[in-house]
Amino acid sequence: METEATPQILVVEDEEAIAHGLKFNLERKQYRVDVVGDGREALERTAERKYDLILLDVRLPGLDGFEVCSELRRRQDFTPVLMLTARSQPDDVVYGLKSGADDYVTKPFELGELLARVEVLLRRRQWSKTATGEAERGTAGGRFEFGPFWVDFETWQAKTLGGVVELSRKELSVMKVFAERPNQVISRRELLAEVWDLPNHPNTRVVDNVIVALRKAFEDNAWRPRHIHNVRGVGYRFVP
Ligand code: CA
Repeated sequence: METEATPQILVVEDEEAIAHGLKFNLERKQYRVDVVGDGREALERTAERKYDLILLDVRLPGLDGFEVCSELRRRQDFTPVLMLTARSQPDDVVYGLKSGADDYVTKPFELGELLARVEVLLRRRQWSKTATGEAERGTAGGRFEFGPFWVDFETWQAKTLGGVVELSRKELSVMKVFAERPNQVISRRELLAEVWDLPNHPNTRVVDNVIVALRKAFEDNAWRPRHIHNVRGVGYRFVP
């Protein structure tokens, strides 16, 4: 990874033992780490300085993790967010992704997995910076049109059934793969490799979650999709 500086991570976690453990282990990986214990403080801190990644617990005093993440996105702050969700609350994942989180790890988490996801998101951030730079230099303006919709890869905005909205980083990245390879069969595994950087990850549910969100945005009948088609047992085919 090209690093201009040491990546700065903000940990938002009210349970002191967990926060302390995360800080310790992230610092061992040579990241710079700040810790805050509630949602409001997280918003204050992120308004003051730019982080490369936010590790955001869902259950927090005051504002919860979903509210913090939504507010960040509303402010046009697209710092990658890795959410810590409760395994006992499967809906957390859906709410988390809806609120604009880039990825999630369920608690109790395995340290190795968490650190791997942190690394992937930081690498993605680098990629995203580069991709944005390329789009700015291009003449196409980074806008991809299909049917009555469009996706703007520069501004992250998209015209959807519900009007113009901001896509999450993952939604945008999946749309980018679709835009580059229209009418082709794209496997879940390829998407995991290209968008999540996890070619050998056994769980493809993260892919399906993003597809669900994209269908909500672009398909008036998710059971008879016009654009995002299932290819049984393999993955998807995007038809512009
Ligand atoms: Ca908590």
